[in-house]
Amino acid sequence: MKKRPGSDPKKRKGLIIVHTGEGKGKSTAAYGLAIRAAGNKMKVFILQFMKGQWKTGERKSVANLSPWIEVVALGDGFTWDTNNPEQDRLTAAKAWNTVKPKILGGEYQMIILDEINYILDYGFLDEKEVLETLCNKPSSVHVVCTGRNASKDLIELADLVTEMKCLKHPFKEQGIPAQKGIEF
Ligand code: ATP
Ligand code: MG
Repeated sequence: MKKRPGSDPKKRKGLIIVHTGEGKGKSTAAYGLAIRAAGNKMKVFILQFMKGQWKTGERKSVANLSPWIEVVALGDGFTWDTNNPEQDRLTAAKAWNTVKPKILGGEYQMIILDEINYILDYGFLDEKEVLETLCNKPSSVHVVCTGRNASKDLIELADLVTEMKCLKHPFKEQGIPAQKGIEF
């Protein structure tokens, strides 16, 4: 088991949380934590790594929770071009450089790195750098990482890991399209 600096379990409060697996609910569970934290007057920063994943429903709700929740979504000034991995690495680096000081700074009590697991899985971000940053975060900060295929090392480092398991999905079994309030 990796030990983080200052990881006395009685004193440490900030958790590293991972939502992974094939089932639905990884991002929505993270937004649920954000809402819970905001209600406790904790400041939350959400970085949405995948373009198009940040939907109108949560965007509008979270706007009502300002200033407690701030969101930066890729697509707001960042673009992915899957034909150009070099460009994608630069995009990922730009996004990461936005959030890294927020993880380390202590101004926010919760940071949500939505879909970062995909970005790490694609190799667009240096995983070692991400894990090192998580190791060095202030003990008061919770960090939530979502997305399928969470890496072994991230799972090992994390304090709380939940794997969503798909038993049924309306699109998969019945071809039911995205429903308002459920998917967006
Ligand atoms: P959500 O944002 O609803 O919590 P998620 O974060 O767990 O979903 P992602 O991997 O980000 O899931 O994928 C987002 C989209 O893929 C959602 O529209 C979700 O309903 C859909 N999805 C998730 N699991 C499945 C599945 N097993 N089969 C088909 N579609 C799925
Ligand atoms: Mg998601």
